[in-house]
Amino acid sequence: MNRKHIMIGFSMVLLFSCKKNESPTVISPQPGSEPSISMNSIHACSAKMYDPKISKLGVGVTSDFWPKNTKGPVVLRVKFMDNSTSAYIRGKIQSYAKEWEQYANVRFDFVNSNQSAEIRVATKSGDGSWSYVGTENLNVPANEPTMNYGWFTDTTEESEFSRVIVHEFGHALGLGHEQSHPLISIKWNKPYIYDYYQRTNGWAKETVDQNVFYTFPNAEASYSAYDPTSIMHYPVPKEFTLNGVSIGMNTQLSAMDKNFIQKIYPSSGTTIPTETILYTITGFTGYLYGKLVTNTLSVKVDAAGNSILYEAYPGYPLDFSWKNDQYVIIDASGAQYKFSSQTRFGAKTNTGLKGRDIRILKNGQQVLGN
Ligand SMILES: [Zn+2]
Repeated sequence: MNRKHIMIGFSMVLLFSCKKNESPTVISPQPGSEPSISMNSIHACSAKMYDPKISKLGVGVTSDFWPKNTKGPVVLRVKFMDNSTSAYIRGKIQSYAKEWEQYANVRFDFVNSNQSAEIRVATKSGDGSWSYVGTENLNVPANEPTMNYGWFTDTTEESEFSRVIVHEFGHALGLGHEQSHPLISIKWNKPYIYDYYQRTNGWAKETVDQNVFYTFPNAEASYSAYDPTSIMHYPVPKEFTLNGVSIGMNTQLSAMDKNFIQKIYPSSGTTIPTETILYTITGFTGYLYGKLVTNTLSVKVDAAGNSILYEAYPGYPLDFSWKNDQYVIIDASGAQYKFSSQTRFGAKTNTGLKGRDIRILKNGQQVLGN
């Protein structure tokens, strides 16, 4: 399947009046006009990205979900591509992304821009808001963003931050659009919508079919109920439908969103470890107390990004011989932590280094790390 057609943003801007006692109306795109009474924008995504394989609940594509981590949460690293993104907007993106962590056994680790990350966030205005879906992020060249926010400013309303950020990070976790649910009950006003997108986007009929009317194939699976309150559902003005349906702005995770993502990324049943092993250095193999053992020194990173060393046999060096190998651990900032194969560590040693991007040198030669 051609993965190049993954989610695209488009520059159309739908403006809905939010005045009370006035039904929503769709007007031509005039970005920036009347922001005080308008929701800003809807983005749309190409349907070509989807495999005809669908999970049994909710809407997501099985092959796009990140592989489970039996030892703890699925950890996805996130970084900002763009120095121009304000600290305020970065903070919003970080905090709303983390909404998912309350329900899914996942963790978004925000790392420095010089580190590698599966999710790379840009805030290029005019490019719409969009994200690649789940593991499709891995197909994007490392110097390109995988997610964009096209209309955030420091005066964006809180509900809009919530609506868009939680939605995009839902895509990052592998979720599709709720309006692509096989059991969708909307009767589209197709002539109106064809005409609308033709006028506003220059879209051909086929493009509208693909981006607006696509539903997941009704495969062998059964589905949970279609959820018009899902954060993954577009707003639908009533002019778009023939059966009186209209869907407003879903700005928060619905009960079914929470339930669904829990099933996709289930809790391992144990407490979520806050430390992840980055590397393990293997030391001596020999007899200790009559038992053949191998000593190891593991480099872990905790939830706050601290690199910590764990000695499997505290008090013993990595090497019992006369060898005196010199080790250096270097983090992304260039800070170093030095020790030798004769160093006797306690059970847990804080190195003072930060982050997951570390390299380990042994006698001047890199032995571990990227
Ligand atoms: Zn979307």
